[in-house]
Amino acid sequence: MRVLVVEDEPRLLRNLARALREAGYAVDTAEAGDEGLYKAETFNYDAIVLDVMLPRLDGWEILERLRRQKRTPVLMLTARDAFKDRVRGLDGGADDYLVKPFDLSELLARLRAIIRRAAGQARSHLELGDVVIDTRARVVTKTKQPVTLTAREYAILEYLALHQGEVVTRTALYEHLFDETDDSLSNLVDVHIFSIRKKLGHDLIATRRGQGYCIES
Ligand code: CA
Repeated sequence: MRVLVVEDEPRLLRNLARALREAGYAVDTAEAGDEGLYKAETFNYDAIVLDVMLPRLDGWEILERLRRQKRTPVLMLTARDAFKDRVRGLDGGADDYLVKPFDLSELLARLRAIIRRAAGQARSHLELGDVVIDTRARVVTKTKQPVTLTAREYAILEYLALHQGEVVTRTALYEHLFDETDDSLSNLVDVHIFSIRKKLGHDLIATRRGQGYCIES
């Protein structure tokens, strides 16, 4: 999953980006509103964490302009006691909000929830036959036995599982799993798919020649 964080406080931005990467997300960042809007419009993020008070373009303006063309899930960061802000955010098409200062584990939980909802999945466990993905604990089991995946393998499997029944192109996988700081040499998707199949069974992920990959529903 690839997320964009738009936040102008450098320290908070750094901490958020680090925590999200540790939680397995690919993370792009923006410190000003115009840069945030540009990235949100240009790339297909799985979610956006959007601060309200930003230089040059505030969070409301970004949300309003983004909603004219995209449904990307948005988690707004609002000031304490700004009740009107929260109502405005939800009315304006935000998917959820958090009041500053917030707990990182709550931010991670809310982010997982809005990404799942956008993919039409309400539950945190994704079941693919005898393979079960616990998206909260980031643990995968096959016939109830835990299977160890690398962070990349997990990210690819989770993305395909959230889009079960759809063909996901290699380009989409690159776009959703690797961020602007990634070194592309370590990102060979085919190699990761090969390894996932070895660990979880060859039939789990189908290759659609010339199109991409698919977990059948
Ligand atoms: Ca701010």
